[in-house]
Order: sequence, then C-alpha cells, then structure tokens
Amino acid sequence: MTQTEDKITLSTEDTPLVPMEKIVSLCKRRGFVYPNSEIYGGVSGIYDFGPLGVELRNNIRRYWWWSMVQTNDNVVGIEGNIITHPRVWEASGHVENFVDRLVECKNCKRRFRVDQLPKENLEQNKRPVCGGELGEPRVFNLMMETYIGVVEGERMKTYLRGEACQNIYLDYDNVQKSSRMQIPFGICQIGKAFRNEVTPGNFLFRQREFEQWDLQFFVHPSEMQKWFDYWRERRFEWYKGIINHKDRLRLRPHGPDELAHYAKQAFDIEYRSVLGWQEWEGIHWRQDWDLSRHSQFSGHDLSYTDPETKERYIPWIVETSGGVDRTFLNLLLDAYEEEPPSGKDKEGRTVLRLHPWFAPVKVAVLPLQKNKEELVTTARDIHKRLQRLMVSQYDDVANIGRRYRRQDEIGTPFCVTVDFQTLEDQTVTVRERDGMTQIRLQIKELPAYLLERVMWNYS
Ligand code: ATP
Repeated sequence: MTQTEDKITLSTEDTPLVPMEKIVSLCKRRGFVYPNSEIYGGVSGIYDFGPLGVELRNNIRRYWWWSMVQTNDNVVGIEGNIITHPRVWEASGHVENFVDRLVECKNCKRRFRVDQLPKENLEQNKRPVCGGELGEPRVFNLMMETYIGVVEGERMKTYLRGEACQNIYLDYDNVQKSSRMQIPFGICQIGKAFRNEVTPGNFLFRQREFEQWDLQFFVHPSEMQKWFDYWRERRFEWYKGIINHKDRLRLRPHGPDELAHYAKQAFDIEYRSVLGWQEWEGIHWRQDWDLSRHSQFSGHDLSYTDPETKERYIPWIVETSGGVDRTFLNLLLDAYEEEPPSGKDKEGRTVLRLHPWFAPVKVAVLPLQKNKEELVTTARDIHKRLQRLMVSQYDDVANIGRRYRRQDEIGTPFCVTVDFQTLEDQTVTVRERDGMTQIRLQIKELPAYLLERVMWNYS
C-alpha cells in the first residue's frame, strides 16, 4: 500500500510467494488463529480465531456485506440457520451426490482426491512423488450428520448444512413477498458450512467447518447471460481491489467436464500462492435448478409472476459463492512481507501490507516514554477518544522502534506518537506503516485524517 496525497492505493510490486509456515506461525504468535482444542491434540481441519483474527474476520465480512448488500438497491440479506429440514439435502442432491472419490497410495498410504490428481498419474495409476501404486477409488459423502430430538427412536436425522446457500432458496419466497423485491434482485448471506473433507489441510484453505458468502441473483431467463457477465466482472474487480499482487488473480472458465448438467458456463476466481492457482470464489450459472427442485420436493410452487406482463416462470439464478476463510488466508499470504534492513529500519521488519479497511487495529497510540506522566495521560486520552471511531491500541512497552515493528507485523496502518513537543503545541507524529513516512498533525485533526484513510465509506 502506498499513500499519495489523500488516496490510498495498493502497490503492485512483485515479491516472492510466502511459505505457508510463515503465516501459520504469525497467526499463532500474534493471536490471529489457533488450532481448535489444541490442549487435547487438536482436530484436523478445525481452527479458532484469536483476538486479532476475529477483528480481521469481522472486517472482511463487513466489507463484503457493505459492498454486496448495503450499496446495491436490488440486493437484500438474510441469516439462515445451520440446521434445516433433512429433505432440503435430498432436493439439493447432497445426500446422493455430495461425495469425493478418493484413492490411497499402496506404498505411502496417503490419500488423494481423484479430481485433484494430475491426469497422467491417474492414467498410469501412480502417485505423484513416491510413484506408489494407487488403490481402487472409494466414495465418501461429505455431509455431517446430526439429530434433532431427545427420545431414542423418535429422533430425526438431519445435517449440518454442507453449503450455506440453500437457506437462500428456502427463504426466497418469503423475502420476495415481505420485502416486495421484483426480479431482477439478489439475496445475500454469510454463514457457516460443514464438510467432512477427506483431505483437509493447507491451514485455513480446506477446513471441515468454514464460512461462506453467497449471492443468489434471480433473473428472467432471457437476461441470464447479461447478469452472469455482470456479476462475474463485479466479483473479479472486487477481489482485485483488496489485494496488492493483482497478477496473482485470474478468472478460469470451467471446462465441459467440470460443468454441472444445467450450467452453460462457470468461472473460478483463482489466486496464486504457494498452493499454486486455487479457487477463491466460484461464479455459477444455476439456471432454474434450485427453485425447481425445491418446488418439486416441497410441493410449494416457487414460480414468480411478473407484475406487468403477468408472465409466470421459475426464476433463473446467477450464484457467486466464496469463502471468508479463504479470503482471510489469501489476504495474509498477499500482504505478508519480510523487509531486509534498510536506511529507514536498521533491523529489518515483518510487515503485513493489509488494506487499512481490513487491518485488525487501525491506529496505535504510543507515548514516547512511559515514565513521563504527562505523555502517558495525553496518549491515553487520545487513545480513548479514537476508540469511539475505530479500533485503537495503546502501547507503552519497549522502545519506540520495537513498538512500531510490533504494529507493522499485525498490519496497523498508522501509529500516533506523543512526545515532548506534543505537550507544548498539541501536535503528534503520525507514522504510516508502508513507507514509514512521518508527518506532524494537530491532535484535533487526527479523527478526520485517520477516518478518511481507514474507512471504506470515506474513501
Ligand atoms: P473446492 O473445489 O476447493 O473443494 P468447491 O468447489 O467445493 O471448492 P464450493 O462448494 O463452490 O467450493 O464453495 C464455495 C466457496 O467456499 C469456495 O470458493 C471456497 O472459498 C469456500 N470453501 C469451500 N470448501 C471449503 C473448505 N473446505 N474450507 C474453506 N473454504 C471452503
């Protein structure tokens, strides 16, 4: 990120791909992410978010919600529940078809998803790297089962939702009628999903409990292509706008063998990291599949009548479906940098070049010395006042250079230092994270200066 006059723009300079271990270690050390139930040995593919992680996560969710729901007049939001009627998952095809095919290497016993193995390995029936022979593919259903009710024999088996979007189809009719939305319009949701992934791994990339964000946009069939193209471009630009390395983002069209039977087209928005090119969000042509199936299975007619032409039809759907956790991980992979010692910083530093919108802490307020009461009182006062507007952290432990580096490592875009000059003329030093440039401002100018740079709706 660089700051030029009033505008903040993300830099496009290329830097080496960051090893995953660096991110895992930073996340643990600084309180972003911890292994779930770690004191019991952990559970593969399940994580908890720490004090900084929860701030980053909330910022990510909030930005998506703001740009998808609150700034689009033809889109509204819902929050559906994790548990639904079990018939939902029969209608959606998950009970029958939500499976991974898996092969095991007879030599090293590692398991691989058939759809993720290179073609040549499948053809030669050989595992990459160790070259061991592969066993027969086995099929696993990814749905997590649970039960409603307490009396044995009367309990109803259902599922923790395998994808969040089903709630949107279930609530579609209620939303359309209660909020008087007319087609074309969209419904958004952010929510947890659960999958018994057979190969969880790569930290947050593939988990068993994770969070998805979806837009389901309902259109007249004749307008499907127009809206599909519109949302594909909007979503691609959205992701481009939140990363530094624009060249690590691409749109990949699905090949004919990847397309669902009802889909004319599909695209993945992919990000390149140490994991190679991987899906970040999918843009799907769902046609009338979902509403037709739920109409058929529930017996509730989900067709729509155009108020002007009186035409009656099942709306077609453009879906954009991505993940909070992959966004969390990709933002860290994209922002992490280790800078060697330079003229400005003699020891070198680790810096998270996160967009200020996402930074867990927006500003740190630092008295130059902690044994000078007037400096401490003034800094605490500034911190308290800034806290009403944004996440501010007060820190008086260690020398000022160490404190700057601590903030750089967690991506805090601005540090405000209170020194002896402050006591004379009510000015403070504002140090910016990326260029490490410093300017002096009046204390009373701080709120407007910072807000303009850290809040998206001010830029
Ligand atoms: P993949 O091919 O990587 O398994 P998918 O095609 O099954 O993903 P979708 O069902 O389309 O993924 O889910 C939409 C989004 O949800 C994905 O783009 C991704 O961001 C997120 N997602 C899916 N599975 C996981 C998971 N196991 N852990 C974290 N995020 C996930």
